[in-house]
Amino acid sequence: MSDCLFCKIIAGEIPSEKVHETSTTFAFRDINPQSNVHVLVVPKAHHEDAAALAAADPRLLADVITAGAAVAKQEGIDESGYRLVFNTGEHAGRTVFHAHLHVLGGEQLGLFGRPGS
Ligand code: 5GP
Ligand code: ZN
Repeated sequence: MSDCLFCKIIAGEIPSEKVHETSTTFAFRDINPQSNVHVLVVPKAHHEDAAALAAADPRLLADVITAGAAVAKQEGIDESGYRLVFNTGEHAGRTVFHAHLHVLGGEQLGLFGRPGS
């Protein structure tokens, strides 16, 4: 999609700090990290969100999660632990409409749910 931020990052039209890549996925550091390690894993093919990706191409969704685990290992947080997150919709604070998996870790993470909890 020509007007999609993450499609432009995958194409190299917008710079990013690449962390990991496979034939079907691309991973780069979040520009506004919420933890010491905060990497985004995206499918190279454009799908609007995680549910749309699962419906259209479940194998590609598995590729994204497998890449997330590979990123955690590469970043040295596979044993200390990490969180994989897909945000969907306004209440989850979703801002970019190309499915993306957040890989968060590198420190003790807070509980998640309501702000401040
Ligand atoms: P969402 O809130 O949609 O789940 O996550 C979008 C994420 O993309 C946010 O964590 C935000 O910081 C990150 N982000 C937005 N624009 C850019 C960008 O241009 N480059 C990078 N590396 N991350 C971005
Ligand atoms: Zn896209």
